[in-house]
Amino acid sequence: MLQIGQLPTCFPGGYRGRNEDVGVESGKGQDNFGNADTGPKVTYVPPPPPDAEDEIFRHYQTGINFDKYDEILVDVSGTNAPPAILSFEDADLSETLTKNVYKAGYVKLTPIQKHSIPIVMAGRDLMACAQTGSGKTAAFLLPILAHMMKSGIAASQFKEIQEPEAIIVAPTRELINQIYLDARKFSYGTVVRPVVIYGGTQTSHSLRQIFQGCNILCATPGRLLDVINKEKIGLSKVKYLVLDEADRMLDMGFMEDVRKLLSSPGMPTKEERQTLMFSATFPAPIQSLAREILKPDYIFVVVGQVGGACSDVEQQIIEVDEYGKRDKLLEILQSIGHERTMVFVKTKKKADFIATVLCQEKLPSTSIHGDREQREREKALHDFRSGQCPVIVATSVAARGLDIENVQHVINFDIPGDIDEYVHRIGRTGRCGNTGKAISFFDRKGDDEQKVVRGLVKILTDAHQEVPAWLEEIAFSAHGTQSYSSHPSKFASVDDRKASRGGFQEDNSYSGSSFTKAPAPAEEEEDWG
Ligand code: AMP
Repeated sequence: MLQIGQLPTCFPGGYRGRNEDVGVESGKGQDNFGNADTGPKVTYVPPPPPDAEDEIFRHYQTGINFDKYDEILVDVSGTNAPPAILSFEDADLSETLTKNVYKAGYVKLTPIQKHSIPIVMAGRDLMACAQTGSGKTAAFLLPILAHMMKSGIAASQFKEIQEPEAIIVAPTRELINQIYLDARKFSYGTVVRPVVIYGGTQTSHSLRQIFQGCNILCATPGRLLDVINKEKIGLSKVKYLVLDEADRMLDMGFMEDVRKLLSSPGMPTKEERQTLMFSATFPAPIQSLAREILKPDYIFVVVGQVGGACSDVEQQIIEVDEYGKRDKLLEILQSIGHERTMVFVKTKKKADFIATVLCQEKLPSTSIHGDREQREREKALHDFRSGQCPVIVATSVAARGLDIENVQHVINFDIPGDIDEYVHRIGRTGRCGNTGKAISFFDRKGDDEQKVVRGLVKILTDAHQEVPAWLEEIAFSAHGTQSYSSHPSKFASVDDRKASRGGFQEDNSYSGSSFTKAPAPAEEEEDWG
């Protein structure tokens, strides 16, 4: 539990999201594998992942709405898309992989898995969009692993330079670690060795993990570029490149890193590798960008609506001004009792401040944001997962991908200024067919509220949630850019690849010009890594 008086302040040695990932890791603060050492030394070595089989396969139960996933409409576009499969038996996974899938508690495929597994197995590129918590991770991991095991991968620990066959990138450290744990679970008992490397940890530790053998490299972009620049891995064997939270990976925040990755020496061109992109949100301008790194005959799978909220989350919007938020939060948390709750705020300072207030009110709370050291971030998540701290106050760094058992409530203390961010935040609950509740505070004088209000009304309407009359009125007169109607720039789900044909370039020849078309992410204080 976060003790009052031990709250994180901005330590000089604290690690600051993604900027640190590239800047600090590439130069300062390095250890015996680094060069100059003018900054704080990164010494954190994360604890080893669990070894006991029951820990590796620990999972939570699918919820009452799991079977309802089958009712969601699926749109598949692209030529000669392989038909969907109906069961794990149809998936043509190896015996060990199938056993691991069942040990993980998977009995039935989710829609995104039904479609993605045969597409990836057929060697096709894929852009896939499906609601939060609906099984996207296994949708890319299982076919990659199945292919690796079929093609008879060799144990790789004795090679001098490691050459992974798959690279998976995700925008945050905690998310990439979660993907790694899934990869480790599904590859249990096989020769395939997944490795994870991410910022805020000792570089020599990352390198040691790689040197011990690496078939699937799960990485945050900064640390990945760092090991590539140090020539510690070879890229020429990369058969699969996966961008998870792909729209985030291709927006202004990360596109420079992705561009560098694609043009790194040895990286196979898009014709030579398979590129897979997954997210719950995919704004149209980012889809155009994404197309440039996919083969022209890629397949686009949309389960439900691009950018739609998970319908298992009950959404409520409460009007409250800035000064009333604190009391409202306390009132809600006191009525919730000890149910697990994520509270999202706009800034790192506020995250610590609110966590302190909650601790003072005897509500055991912790916080996670980009100014906390990695050790503290992991401890915070651990305390939240274990139930020791039933409340975690987070910035947007925890908005995407995290799959935590039993999160029953999400509270947007500060509403985000971007509707996709809202969809991801509330998607921390209502996962895997379970139900959840999301409450968002709405201050009608707030700038972010103005930006997001129209998108919010659309999201609520599409998810069959009640839209308060006062919110509709505000939306009607709002000057924001995110519209109710299926505004093509935000909510397009059609495959308009024809319109963009002719703009494809060789990956390795990126000048960056096409990437500069990406829209800027919502302005916010948080940074990433
Ligand atoms: P994801 O969207 O990949 O984060 O998955 C959300 C949660 O659903 C995770 O806890 C997964 O382990 C779980 N899950 C994914 N696919 C299945 C499945 N077919 N059956 C049961 N659980 C699943």
